[in-house]
Amino acid sequence: MTLIRAAVCHAFGEPLKIEEVTLRAPAAGEVEVTLEAVAICHSDISYIDGGWGGGLPAVYGHEAAGIVTGIGPGVTGLEAGARVIVTLIRACGTCVDCASGAPVYCSSAAPVPPSLTGADGRALVKGLKCAAFAEKVVVDQSQVVDVGGLAPEAACLLACGVPTGVGAAVNTAGIRPGQNVVVIGAGGVGLNAIQGARIAGAARIIAMDLEPSKLEDARTFGATDGVLASEPKPWKAIRALTGGRGADHVLVSVGAIPAYDVAMRLLAPKGTVYAVGMPHSGDTVSYEPVIIAATGQGMRGSLMGEVVPKRDIPWIVELYGQGRLKLDELVTGRWTLDQINEAIADTRSGKARRNVIVFRGASPGGTGPAGLAADQALPG
Ligand SMILES: [Zn+2]
Ligand SMILES: [Zn+2]
Repeated sequence: MTLIRAAVCHAFGEPLKIEEVTLRAPAAGEVEVTLEAVAICHSDISYIDGGWGGGLPAVYGHEAAGIVTGIGPGVTGLEAGARVIVTLIRACGTCVDCASGAPVYCSSAAPVPPSLTGADGRALVKGLKCAAFAEKVVVDQSQVVDVGGLAPEAACLLACGVPTGVGAAVNTAGIRPGQNVVVIGAGGVGLNAIQGARIAGAARIIAMDLEPSKLEDARTFGATDGVLASEPKPWKAIRALTGGRGADHVLVSVGAIPAYDVAMRLLAPKGTVYAVGMPHSGDTVSYEPVIIAATGQGMRGSLMGEVVPKRDIPWIVELYGQGRLKLDELVTGRWTLDQINEAIADTRSGKARRNVIVFRGASPGGTGPAGLAADQALPG
């Protein structure tokens, strides 16, 4: 049992409250990670807003990195002192989906045991299976991947935003060299889908966003072209850029329904739309099936980039080390845990790529270096 500080959600749509809560020790198959950095993802905000329901009080946060400081019985391949990322991919390893190489869709029905208790003695809901808006987490060993000496602010992005975008392009879409790709939304996930398309060898990588400045951002991450989403008929611009055919792949990185409305119109014959961003529950879009039937087009989802963490995280780290994948440039704001509501407001404004809460030696105010070294030793 350890007393830690956490940002607790007591009511949907209201600011999180920083409170002292109790973290239990890791049970069999679990590890404790002392967090160094956690990024704010739009999925956290969807939960905070009540867009996906769920119980309260809850602690969210799922894009985290830190140091292993506790190991439960039966954990293999992890040692205290290792720097790891903490993801929401909790995989049993033995169900049909895990055995088919899709741990993000693990169909094990095992419940996620709570790990935090509030000051009033009630268990807190472990939001997104991590509860990482807190100084420490206890999670299943499958949720943790060793990232070597990677600095914590870059590392935490590998827990959600980076694999969600890169994986959607490489794993789900399986982009082939020479194909044409549209990425709708040039934020934290969209920029990584653009990086994935570049790594996969796409010919045209066309960013679409409402903000002209984000289209410029997109070019620095590998987009070859930009189209404003506010254009009255954006499909005309997409066709002009793709030899009249349209795109082989359209990756929708945002949850906004107008983006899903337009996406199918951007496709080439046999092209596919990928739902990567997560709309709120109950949001709907309508399509004309005859068009899909006549063109061989389709739509499919991509959760967390269908990443296989132990396979994909190491090569993403390797490409970063070679300068072939950007991570540092994704972080546009650094905050302390006490500033989390300001950091969330800044993320809502749409200006940020990623806002990161830094737990040790952070410089307050949202900008500037946080003063963490990659090899920083942590006291037990
Ligand atoms: Zn996320
Ligand atoms: Zn499974």
